[in-house]
Amino acid sequence: MNRILLESSEIRKGVATFGGARAVHVLEVLHGEIGQVLKTGEIDGRIGTGEIIGLSASDDDPWVRVRCEHAEESRRPWVDLILAPPRPRVMKRLLPQLAAIGVGRLVLVGAQKVEKDFWGATLLKEAIYRPLLIDGLMQAGTSILPTLETRRNFRRFLREELDDMFPGTLRLVAHPAATATYGDRRQSSAVDGCRRPLLAIGPEGGWTDDEVQLLESRGFTRHSLGPRILRTDTATVALLAQLMKEFDR
Ligand code: SAH
Repeated sequence: MNRILLESSEIRKGVATFGGARAVHVLEVLHGEIGQVLKTGEIDGRIGTGEIIGLSASDDDPWVRVRCEHAEESRRPWVDLILAPPRPRVMKRLLPQLAAIGVGRLVLVGAQKVEKDFWGATLLKEAIYRPLLIDGLMQAGTSILPTLETRRNFRRFLREELDDMFPGTLRLVAHPAATATYGDRRQSSAVDGCRRPLLAIGPEGGWTDDEVQLLESRGFTRHSLGPRILRTDTATVALLAQLMKEFDR
């Protein structure tokens, strides 16, 4: 955790008291003591510092109290993602990383090869996924929480909603079989750097030919990291890392 994030409801008159994993981290990893200044921030709000003004290191109920000065803007998300979700287990590993890397909007879509029972996963409950996203933000030191939406009807989403939800984006569909790589694309279009990227990642079984064509008809260009077929979480992080340098400004 590089920044302790607080819910706005936890902060009263600039003071916040928190327990749980955040308190354990402050006490055990940061060796928190009264007067120590931590990096803190408000979820979906400003970031800054928090001076420790109270604590209890008791084993069963540790807590820490800080006086916050949150005056700085967090770095903003710089990319959006359309993801045909992998199994919940993989998704659970992926979510914190998406928040850390700077995803703003995450849309989970029902591509043909997405396992049908995914849509019943408890991971889709806000109470389960929200803390995972916050973990990622605390790692990166930012505070803007990604939003997560689901669109089981992938085709309808592309036809009816895509353009309103993501106007003017640089659209890339990740596909191992594609011949174009990011480098080729960049040489061909220097103005791309000004647009916000929107990346579409396929399901564990891959995009169908129809789906790739449909995405192309909606302005996505194919993008490959090379012929090695990577697991969804590895591919997603690798693709985002590749784009981050150019677009995360
Ligand atoms: N058997 C599938 C593998 C899908 S891997 C297939 O051959 O398409 C899940 C998703 O990760 C893919 O749909 C793609 O979006 C992304 N991915 C995996 N490896 C990739 C690579 N080398 N380049 C680009 N995207 C990749």
